[in-house]
Amino acid sequence: MRDVETFLKHLYQEYEDQYPRSRAAHEEAKRLLVDGVSHGARLFAPFPFRITAARGPYVKELGGAQIIDYWQGHYANILGHNPPVIVEALQAELERGFGLQTGIPDEGQTAFAATLAKATGAEKVRLTTSGTLATMYAIMLARAFTGRNAVLKVGGGWHGANPLALKGVARTAEGFTAVDSTGLPKSAEEEILVTRFNDVEALEEVFRRRGEEIACFIFEPCPGGGGFIPATKAFMGAARELTRRYGALLILDEVITGFRFCASGVQRLYGVQADLSTFGKIIGGGMPVSAVVGRADVLERASESVPKRVWFNGGTFAAHPLSVRAGQAMLDYLIAHEDTLYPALAAKGDWLRRNIERVFADRGILARCTGDDAEAIPAGGSLGWVNFPLREDVPLTAPEDVTDPSVCDVALREKALKIGLLLEGVNVVHGLGAISLEHSEEVLARTLEAYDAFAKRLSREG
Ligand code: PMP
Repeated sequence: MRDVETFLKHLYQEYEDQYPRSRAAHEEAKRLLVDGVSHGARLFAPFPFRITAARGPYVKELGGAQIIDYWQGHYANILGHNPPVIVEALQAELERGFGLQTGIPDEGQTAFAATLAKATGAEKVRLTTSGTLATMYAIMLARAFTGRNAVLKVGGGWHGANPLALKGVARTAEGFTAVDSTGLPKSAEEEILVTRFNDVEALEEVFRRRGEEIACFIFEPCPGGGGFIPATKAFMGAARELTRRYGALLILDEVITGFRFCASGVQRLYGVQADLSTFGKIIGGGMPVSAVVGRADVLERASESVPKRVWFNGGTFAAHPLSVRAGQAMLDYLIAHEDTLYPALAAKGDWLRRNIERVFADRGILARCTGDDAEAIPAGGSLGWVNFPLREDVPLTAPEDVTDPSVCDVALREKALKIGLLLEGVNVVHGLGAISLEHSEEVLARTLEAYDAFAKRLSREG
């Protein structure tokens, strides 16, 4: 086992020396903002750097450093930061004196819903503002539609801080079993069931035991908190078949995977159609919009005309004009360039994942990138985690594997690699993150140099 703690101490000291203005700004922020941030994923030790600008693959740190960024707006910015195609669309909208919320329907919403429905094969669409709300409403719809209460999810699956899925998110000593938050209704404990991702037998077993109670099975095709490991074809197929057989709904949470692998949900590449799907992130083009899309008979439960309707309603900023405009510009671009854009992204992802493993191997360090599975998604992809398995032969097939310190060196990935790469001017999440179209060959090559510098250092000091 490496002595990550001593190594980390050195890295933290250098990071503090390299980014003193961010350190001071973080101290200031902490006085008022809880932990100095507005989202837990933006916080890391010893302090998050702060930025003044973002363009393409880069963000500019307070002190002026250009940092290559693979976080890219929580993976939303598939065209890089502030892409002209979106910025110009928003400018044009504001110039014609339209863009801030009106609360009155406009034609942009209908056009956006039509684009989304056509791309995803959905019969009906409802827009809201965040992935959290989309998954919460999708689960409410499923519970109402089936008249059942239990929600089945996978360990390590994240659907936002949605009270109906806030169990089995964070790993505890027992695994992914605990309710993650206090302040929730007591029912969360009994009504949220957790199964292991990519484990068909466990899935069959939970349906055998509890199938009649299950309103829906919700999962991410590539869990963002679990290595971006793609669902196997067998798991996806079993999820579809078992939900159908037991009268439950399949909800695919495509907040990350939607429009990331193709100009639709990744479910299209699996040849599966969920009953409901949730989209967010990319579909907003960098602005807040999300959607629940899918079967008309289920979504119609939210209609005013239904006696005992699902209150999928409210939202001052639902279908915000600028968000919808940004989303439209993004979807139009992705759909128009689908044939070239996704293969280009996949090639970048493939090159980087392969070469990261190689630079570590060259220094005698075992690193394994997750985020693709040629059998499940032959098209390849642009997401990645970098894991450091403790043994050569260990399979990384589920969130359990990549988050278990007895399987992978989690501190090395989450802490040391994070800071070590920032010292080289590269910002990663879970070892890598999401590649944008703006990550050019040169940027990827510079990224690889950063990994190599870190690997070299780790082999000497770690
Ligand atoms: N589902 C998934 C798969 C996500 O990755 C996220 C956000 N990381 C959410 C839901 C929640 O989305 P939001 O942060 O927009 O509420």
